[in-house]
Amino acid sequence: MIVSCVGIGIGAGARIAIGEAHLLCHGPVCVTPSWISSPQVEQEIARFERALQAASQQLLEIREQIPPGTPGEIAEFIDAHLMMLQDNAISSGVKSLIRERLSGAEWALQQHRDNLVGVFDQMQDDYLRTRRDDLDHVVSRIQKVLLEQQEPHISDLQGQIVLAEDLSPADVILLHNRGVMGFVTEYGGPMSHSAILARSLGIPAIVGARGASRCLRHGELLILDTDNGCVLANCPPSLVSRFEDQREFAQQRTAMLRRQSHQPALTADGQRIELLANIELAEDVLVATENGADGIGLYRTEFLYMNRRDLPDEEEHFETYSAVVRGVQGHPVVIRSLDLGADKPLPGQQDGSGSGNPALGLRAIRLCLKEPELFRPQLRAILRASALGDVRLMLPMLTNLWEVEQARSIIRLCMQELESEGQAFDAALPVGGMIEVPAAALAAPAFAAALDFLSIGTNDLIQYTLAIDRVDDEVNYLYDPFHPAVLQLIRQVIEAADSAQVPVSMCGEMAGDLRFLPLLLGMGLRSFSMQPAALLDVKQRIREYDVPTLRTKTRKLFEDIYTADPLTLLTHWHHH
Ligand code: PEP
Ligand code: MG
Repeated sequence: MIVSCVGIGIGAGARIAIGEAHLLCHGPVCVTPSWISSPQVEQEIARFERALQAASQQLLEIREQIPPGTPGEIAEFIDAHLMMLQDNAISSGVKSLIRERLSGAEWALQQHRDNLVGVFDQMQDDYLRTRRDDLDHVVSRIQKVLLEQQEPHISDLQGQIVLAEDLSPADVILLHNRGVMGFVTEYGGPMSHSAILARSLGIPAIVGARGASRCLRHGELLILDTDNGCVLANCPPSLVSRFEDQREFAQQRTAMLRRQSHQPALTADGQRIELLANIELAEDVLVATENGADGIGLYRTEFLYMNRRDLPDEEEHFETYSAVVRGVQGHPVVIRSLDLGADKPLPGQQDGSGSGNPALGLRAIRLCLKEPELFRPQLRAILRASALGDVRLMLPMLTNLWEVEQARSIIRLCMQELESEGQAFDAALPVGGMIEVPAAALAAPAFAAALDFLSIGTNDLIQYTLAIDRVDDEVNYLYDPFHPAVLQLIRQVIEAADSAQVPVSMCGEMAGDLRFLPLLLGMGLRSFSMQPAALLDVKQRIREYDVPTLRTKTRKLFEDIYTADPLTLLTHWHHH
């Protein structure tokens, strides 16, 4: 059986996963099927009752903290959830599943939720549909309490391939810590942060595989082939061993490329190209340096905020950044100030803005400028880390020039504070910005004048230019880096930076994708930042290109941008 789906193209050495399917059932929280033995029934019911109580207690506390003047509906909303928690409709169904089917509490709650949702789904009534959302909120609150009690099962997923409806970036980190071999999700696009994280962590993954969990069974052997975007089940042993050979071959190739990774990236005509790594976690520095990165071009610090309830304090930021700076051994580290919001919510929030359109909402620099108390500890820590090495600060999602000015004035304040406290920092800390909103790309000359460096964030630039949600698999097919509008914006940014003599790099996924390399070199880009695994292949390919030839071809392409087919032109550029 083959399930057709979208591959997300993991870099060298992580293209194939072979392992047992581990089904996480549907719903807002990942839940694993679990069973208990008969003597454990009363204990499990007691555990469930404690979770109900703890969830009620949480809601009571939230209710008490409602600020005066808040509309009465908010308290009523919480009261409705409290009533559901105390109502027998949830608890009696779950308890009987624990008793009669010996389901673990989480699994029983999830099955009961699915049964109730099935009933709601058959109703046409809008009011009842909102009750379904309430049910999901309440269930997810209880599940979180139950799951937290269970945290220490760290090695649960060793060597397994998880199938889930969807996974947040925070879930991917948890699964990684539990030794997961690969994952398949029914929703989500290859540019979502969950997919980016999977590539970065070297976890083979297939996203947007609609219906996969209905076709696949818990416990059966699966093969993920991310190059072809396939999940294979029921494979004959001969096919399994073919994939094992392929995996082995890919590992040997990676090892071979790694041995040459410390040679500089030079084009055929001798131009030096800077190859930087994107990292999400401090420990990713190791693979980045092993793969010969010239430094870190994008450190996505918001991952420090995931899977926790509290916020990291200045010391924790500082310790983490110091470890990264020590790890890169003198190379530059571009630390991006936190880009929370959209698919990377603040701890304790559903999404960054609470709006129906979180990608257009209060995320990244907007959130930081609105909440300087969130921003300051991070800025102070970055400044302190700048005393230890070549640290640079990058601001995400810039749209207006005044955002740069405001950020700079907060940075100045932090510098004054640190100075008066006698703390060391780099007073000339370079401050750069991401060009990932079309407005910023169109106004690139102004941003180039206001910033010390630019970095093109194509993931968001493409999302916003083409008006497609990068996490929505329904519109994935429209995600087109070759769109003439996208190419023109990228070229404008590179040219604006060159005219202003400001360094420019690219840190979106396009930078590590071999298909776009000749085009970007031809546009004049000389610095690329990518997931560490991609560095090896990109460096090898760079050696094949002659930049003057690419420049001529690219100029021709842009003369004819609305009718030319970049892919056809690109095929001629390949030398194999
Ligand atoms: C981008 O938008 O291209 C980018 C690099 O940032 P992120 O993927 O974290 O939004
Ligand atoms: Mg971005």
